[in-house]
Formats: sequence, structure tokens, C-alpha cells
Amino acid sequence: MKALVAVKHVVDFNVKVRVKSDKSGVDIAAAKMSINPFDEIAVEEAIRLKEQGIVSDILVVSCGASPCQQTLRTALAMGADRAILVETSAELQPLAVAKLLQAVMKQEQPQLVILGKQAIDDDCNQTGQMLAALTDLPQATFASKLTIEAEQATVTREIDGGLETLSFTLPGIITTDLRLNEPRYVTLPNIMKAKKKPLETLTPEQLGVDVTPRIKTLAFNEPPTRKAGIVVADVATLVDKLKNEAKVI
Ligand code: AMP
Repeated sequence: MKALVAVKHVVDFNVKVRVKSDKSGVDIAAAKMSINPFDEIAVEEAIRLKEQGIVSDILVVSCGASPCQQTLRTALAMGADRAILVETSAELQPLAVAKLLQAVMKQEQPQLVILGKQAIDDDCNQTGQMLAALTDLPQATFASKLTIEAEQATVTREIDGGLETLSFTLPGIITTDLRLNEPRYVTLPNIMKAKKKPLETLTPEQLGVDVTPRIKTLAFNEPPTRKAGIVVADVATLVDKLKNEAKVI
């Protein structure tokens, strides 16, 4: 079984980003970049399925500018078999990424497609769902447990009221939640080995996909700085302030 895993190159989760002075975006020029944490979990899950003998070939795909190769190499060092970079310097919104992944799926015919539930830079949580709609395939989002038996995928999802279990026949699309697994560390020998694994570069034009953004971002703003708290003398004062100043009760 072939698995396709979508991996996004994002600002590392430890980096504190700042809005550019002209509010046109976030300044990431010198920021440390990494594989999106949910995508790292997606790659780990594909590798575990390969170790169980269920998956035989893991293809990782990233869409964006050429530095995305670093994230693809990380996924290859973890254990993916080959990589495709859909290279473009254009701003990519979830619909464009979903269309690019759909085009790659058409060429590669994977039975299993795994994405992260969301990218930590844009927090859209849309690409997997859009891809399922475009390809008309079943989807199970926010997977916290996955088992595959005889072409049947069973996915446990954490929802407000508890756990939901879904089952569908592959091919299908799964998006990962944080609790699905704990990704392995990449070892130095595997980083060296990953340099020799195949990494193909395609362009949106070659895939016949128009990636023109559909949404225009008007401005980015820093979140308001939090005011310092105060200590109140007693519960009565607290209730009074909540009622008359904060007006929340
Ligand atoms: P989003 O809908 O932007 O929150 O992203 C959800 C998931 O879609 C991510 O966790 C990735 O698996 C995938 N994805 C989003 N953007 C890209 C990209 N540029 N390249 C590869 N995968 C992506």
C-alpha cells in the first residue's frame, strides 16, 4: 500500500514571531523553520504502518518555496521513502494546496493520504477536508488512533463529548491529532542516508493547477498586550467588579 503524507515547512513552534511594521505579514526572514508538528506525527504514523507491513511506500509532499526541501529531508530521515516538492514562491492558501495534492494523488494513486489537522502558521484546519471534497474520498479528521486491516481504516477521534470511532474502506484521507503518536528522533546516520533518497521537483504549472489566492489578507496585527491583574480584597469585591466593570455576569 502506498501512503502519501503532506508536510508543511513552517516557523518552528518555539519561535516568537513579530508582525512586520507595515502589517503586511509576519517577519519570518531569519526565523528557524521546521516540519509542521502535526505533519511530523503524520510521517511517524506512516512509518509505523510500514513497520507493521501494511504500508510499503511512503511519499512525502511539500508545496512551497525551495527551503521546503529541508522539511522533506527531515521526513526522509525519519523513514519516508521519497519526496516531491511542488515548488512555487506564490502565496499558497489551503484550497491551492488541496488542488496540488489532488494532482499529485492522480499521478501517484496512494491508498492512504495523511495530513496534519492544521498547520501551526496559518491555523486553517482546512486542507485535509478540502482534499477529501475535491477527490470525493472518505475522510477522518483529528485521528488519535488509527488501525488498518484488510483495506479498512478505523479511526478514533477526540470530540467534545468523548471519543468517536469511524471506519471506512481505503482509499481515504486522515488528518492527525496530537495524541496519535510521539514522533521518533532523527538520527545522524539517517540524516546522511536521507540525502541520497529521491526528491523530485514539480511546479503547479506542470500539475495544471492555478494557485491564485482566493482570499485577500487586509492586515496583520499583534494581539493586544495583556493588562496586569489586580488582587481584590474579598469575594464581594470580585463579584462587584465582574458585574459592574467587566460586565460578564
Ligand atoms: P491547514 O489547512 O493549512 O491548517 O493545513 C493542514 C495540513 O495540510 C497540514 O498539517 C499539512 O499536512 C497540509 N498542508 C498545508 N499546507 C501545506 C503545504 N504548503 N505543503 C504541504 N502540506 C501542506
